[in-house]
Amino acid sequence: MNLVLLGAPGAGKGTQAEKIRKALDIPVLSTGNLLRQAIAAGTELGKKVESIIDGGNLVPDELVFGLVAERLREPDCARGVIFDGFPRTIHQAEALDKALAVDVVLDLEVPDDVILHRMSGRRICPNCQASYHVVDNPPRVEGVCDKCGAALTIRHDDQPETVKARLEVYHKQTEPIKEYYRAQGKLRTVQGQPRLSDTVRLVSEALGVAL
Ligand SMILES: [Zn+2]
Repeated sequence: MNLVLLGAPGAGKGTQAEKIRKALDIPVLSTGNLLRQAIAAGTELGKKVESIIDGGNLVPDELVFGLVAERLREPDCARGVIFDGFPRTIHQAEALDKALAVDVVLDLEVPDDVILHRMSGRRICPNCQASYHVVDNPPRVEGVCDKCGAALTIRHDDQPETVKARLEVYHKQTEPIKEYYRAQGKLRTVQGQPRLSDTVRLVSEALGVAL
């Protein structure tokens, strides 16, 4: 099965991707990871990507697609793949359609205010990486890690202004992609639930796969 996952940053896409990966034994292709790996490998493409990102620019569609196409040629992708964070533009979606047949597009919908609550309340221990939430999962002592006693911090990505900006970009970019796949009859929408187990059940029903 070739599956595209759509969902805002903080919607819990990664968690669902991991469940589906285990159930179907097919790899997750995350463009974020592909870009990081290319940079780490120091290939010609990787150096190009690095200079673009260092310059504060978006990596162009052709480059991203070049990395995806290269990854798709590896044998573990033969039985299917899960795309996470790709396609991000109509142009990428069209390019993907030429490379393989997308079977299902799963759209994980979580309201923006829920995502804001989740992310802006998150606190991370810089020492042992333990993760907390000021309301949903608070440490015993406010601002202090239960496990190692270090002072908790807010990641830059979790600052409310950053989250809002990313959500705005996401909606602007992704709505046309949803329409593109809806017109192909491939879009399946799941409403993210407060309890993870409920979301997993809905995803399982939407895909017809036991998770
Ligand atoms: Zn800690």
